Order: sequence, then C-alpha cells, then structure tokens
Amino acid sequence: MIEQGVCGTQSPAISNEFKVVSLEDDFICLTRRCTIDDLQDNNEEGCFVVFGSVRALVDEGPWWYSACFCGRAIQPQGGAYYCDFCGHYVTNVNPRFRVKICVEDETGHGIFVLFDREISFLIKKSCAEDFAEVQKDANVMCGDFYPTILHGLVRKMVLLKVDTKPVGIDKYFGTFRVRRVCDDPLIIGMFKHPNYDADDELSPKKI
Ligand SMILES: [Zn+2]
Repeated sequence: MIEQGVCGTQSPAISNEFKVVSLEDDFICLTRRCTIDDLQDNNEEGCFVVFGSVRALVDEGPWWYSACFCGRAIQPQGGAYYCDFCGHYVTNVNPRFRVKICVEDETGHGIFVLFDREISFLIKKSCAEDFAEVQKDANVMCGDFYPTILHGLVRKMVLLKVDTKPVGIDKYFGTFRVRRVCDDPLIIGMFKHPNYDADDELSPKKI
C-alpha cells in the first residue's frame, strides 16, 4: 500500500512532528464532512470529506506531467528541463499523474483534481509503471486519451478529502483539489453509518 501524507503537515519545518493519520481517523473522525452541493457553496477554507461515485474522467489535456525529483512540474526550456524551485537543470524527469474526475453524490456533482499520490493509491500503480505499459500508443502518451487503467476509476465509490483553498492557477478554476482519497469499503461503510459502534453486534465489524 502506498502511504499518504496529510493535509497541512508537509512543511519541512515541522517534519519531525509528522504523524501519518490513519485513513479511518482522517475520514471518519478528524475531517468535517459535507455534501458536494455544500462544497460548491462553501466559502470556508479548509479540508472537507465528500463521498460519491466517479461519474467520468474529465477530458482536458494530458493526464500526466513532467516532474523534477522535488515533485514540481517542469517544462523544457531551450531543449533542457530546468526546475525553478531547485534552481538547476534536471536530467531525471519523472512522469506524474494529474487527473480530473467528475464525482457525484445525491446532491450534485463537482470536478476534482487528483495528483500523483492519490491516483497511484487508487490504481495501485505509479505513473512510470503506467507509462511503460502505454508507451506504444501515441494517442495515450500524448494525453489525447486516458489509459485503460484510469477508465477503471469510473463508477468507483470514493471518499475524497478536499481542500477548498483556491489553487490559484486558472486551469484549476472551479475544481477542488483532492488531498487524500479512500476507497476502502470498511471505511466507506463507517462513513455511511455515522452511528457505527464496534461493540454493537448489529453494526458492520471492522476486521
Ligand atoms: Zn525541483
């Protein structure tokens, strides 16, 4: 399993206090929940959990980007890759996922952007591994089509921990950035049954 970090705890300055919160704590106890409709009207900045099914992949540009080892997107400049953040040329460029999905619940739908860590977590595969499989198909490599494995996300039920803070880049306008994702049926069950009690024989048991 690919372990995921937690919203707001990634500053190097506090890395010695870094604690990985379990999926269960994060999605069931620690993060406020709301409907997708409420999320659209919400003016409050912060993290919220929504639950819904993936209706579609959003057709909009490539599903991957080139990244420096520091994780930031880099573009070729004059035939070489230069990372503004690291301040030097980069020879080992890694492909990383950046996928927009449309998710709906009973109240509405929204567009969510998932980056490398979240997509890798859902499909149990890294972008580089996926690249190796699709490299013979130019339409997929160029980003005109999604690889088959990403189509497998459609109709999946997911819990999304969403950051409502604006990303500040026009291409993400109207989309919500996903900080963490969960497709564990047990945790989804607990989310759907807020009165879940592990001691209650009638409640679904956690294994
Ligand atoms: Zn860098």
